[in-house]
This record gives sequence, C-alpha cells and structure tokens, in this order.
Amino acid sequence: MNLLLKNGAIVTGDKEFSGDILIKNGGIQKIGGTISDRTAEVCDLGGRIVIPAFIDIHIHGADGADTMDNSLESLKKISAFAARHGVANFLPTTLTGPQDVLMEVLEKIADLQDTDLPGANIFGVHMEGPYFDMEYKGAQNAKYIKVSTVNEIKKFLRVKKNLVKLFSLSPNNEEALESIRFLREKGVVVSVGHSACVYEKVKKGIEAGIRHATHTFNGMRGFNHREPGVVGAILEDPAVKAEIIFDKIHVHPAMVHLLIKIKGVENVICITDSMSAAGLSDGDYKLGELDVYVKDGVVRLATYDSLAGSILTMDSAFRNLLELGWSMADAIRMTSTNAAEEFGLNSGEIAPGKDADLTVLDNHNEVVMTVVKGRIKYKGI
Ligand SMILES: [Zn+2]
Repeated sequence: MNLLLKNGAIVTGDKEFSGDILIKNGGIQKIGGTISDRTAEVCDLGGRIVIPAFIDIHIHGADGADTMDNSLESLKKISAFAARHGVANFLPTTLTGPQDVLMEVLEKIADLQDTDLPGANIFGVHMEGPYFDMEYKGAQNAKYIKVSTVNEIKKFLRVKKNLVKLFSLSPNNEEALESIRFLREKGVVVSVGHSACVYEKVKKGIEAGIRHATHTFNGMRGFNHREPGVVGAILEDPAVKAEIIFDKIHVHPAMVHLLIKIKGVENVICITDSMSAAGLSDGDYKLGELDVYVKDGVVRLATYDSLAGSILTMDSAFRNLLELGWSMADAIRMTSTNAAEEFGLNSGEIAPGKDADLTVLDNHNEVVMTVVKGRIKYKGI
C-alpha cells in the first residue's frame, strides 16, 4: 500500500522545506516538491507541519492499561493511545515484580514486538527493575527489590533475542557491575536508576557499561558539591544519555534547561514515564500492585508521599520544550532522533530510505495525524 502525503511543511534534522512525501512499503521513497503517483492513496496535509514521529522509551501505561497487566489487550491499548499522541515507536516498560510475573509479561510483549498494532510499534522492552536501592525506590514495589544476578538476567534475555533493549538498575555492588558488563555484552543499553549510589560507585558502573540514565533527577541521589551523587556522574560523563520527564512536575523547567545545556541536545531524551491514568481523569488507580491517586494531574502513591509516574504524553513534552525556548529542530532531537540513534531504529528522520514514521501537527503543535511504518494509525483531520 502506497501513501502520498501532499503539501506538508516538513521539519527534520536542521532542515525545513515544504512539499510532498511518497511512502512505499512502509518506507519513505521521495520527499519535497510536487510528487505524483497514481497508485498511492493521497492525503492532503494543507500545509501542516510534518516531523519525525516521537519515540517513547519509558512508558508503563495509558488509557486504563498497564504493561504489568500481562495482557495483549492492554499493550494494544497503550499502542493506540501512544499513536494518538504522535508516537510511532515505544518500549513498554516493566516495573519491579517477581521473576515469574516479569517472565510472563516479557513473553506477552515478545508476541507483539514489531507486529502490526492498532497504533505505535513495540520495538522491545524497557525493564525498570527489580535491582534497585530501597532508599530511592520511588513507586517501585519494595517487596520485590533485590540484588541482581547474571543468572536471573540470562532468563529474562532468553525469552526472545533482542527483546530487552533497555535495563534500569542501580550499580550498587559487585553483582550489579557484573550484570552491567553482561547486559552490555549482549547489546542491551544499561541505565542507572532508582539509585542511592555515591558518585564513585556510579563512575564504576559507567566503566562497566552504563550508558543511560533513568528519569534523571528523579529516584536518584542528588547533586551536592562535596558528593556529586548519581546526578553529578550523569552530568559529567558525555557517554551517558539522560532521560527526562518534562511534565513541569517531576523536574523544574530551570533544571531541564540546565540539563540540556550541560549534556547537549544530542544527549537528552524525553520520556513520558506515564502510567495507566494517562488520558483519563483524576481519581484512584493502580501502579502494578500499588495504590496510587491522581490529583490535578499529579500521580502519587496512596501509602506514602512519592510521585508515582506521570500522565505526560510525548506531544505535551514536545510543546514544553518549545515553550522553554528550544527550537523545533532541538525538540525533534530530544523526542525522536536521539532515541532512534541510541537503539538503532531506522526512524527519527524524514529522508528517503527511512521508515515512514511521521507525526503531523496543527498550528498549536497538537497531533492531528500519526503514520507508523507507512500506515496512518491516527487521523484527526
Ligand atoms: Zn518508570
């Protein structure tokens, strides 16, 4: 099935130009100027902005569904919701849980990996936990937090080759360093998260292979001029990509600004970390086994005071970046291109040969259409 998008205002990399996009077999074949193709379905964009579709590498749930529901229906619901918010590729993200439950969830995701879904494509899994530190557990379930073993990790990786793309853990002991080395050897991106480690320990983790940071500033030892902590190690090392939840709740906009300035636009990756209440109203919800509540758009644990994920969407993070004064080219990098490069996706750019993963915006930068591998998965125009 071929698709011809007419009259787009295309923004990609540092280029902006107007014209048509011809899509064949899920890939971009031609862009710019006037293109005609009798075999293609035609959609006139009427001068609307077209950008590389967003990629969300840290999303637990949305629209009443959670990755930990261990259900194909839930994953499909999250996929459809993500596409409505401009996402073409995502990593369903697990929470700290018992090994057998995590194995079952991984198997469900494996069934849907790179298959045709109602919305965004699932290109793998982000495993958030269970090897964390109690002191910074946030909304991770304390009952299942434990010390890592390469043996257990082997079981997770054996579910399906190349399923686990990203693994968040704390480099808190020798076992963790061994796990990091093993994961890296297997091509998994290892991320420091929910960690009480002092600066020196994180540096050892980076030496062992950590290249990513899980929701920077949240759930980690903070920055102090005598003990730089996890945050200090992340800020200092250019090899580490930094996730950020930019919902104006988890991190002050001034700190987001500072992070981008220090790390550089190419090393910051916006995520949602959204949970099942994303897209729904205030009220009581579950995050895994834990009770949480949403009030005025803020998600908190019911039992003690901690933020418990977000109800952020990628398009809203994108608009927040623009509002903070970053250019559209920079915002595209941080919501799409950087993640594509880190995980080797043929996405994140609008160019011939790339996957046709596209998001169309109206003049308020609201999503009006999402194309996933050449197929329109959401259309509001
Ligand atoms: Zn998370």
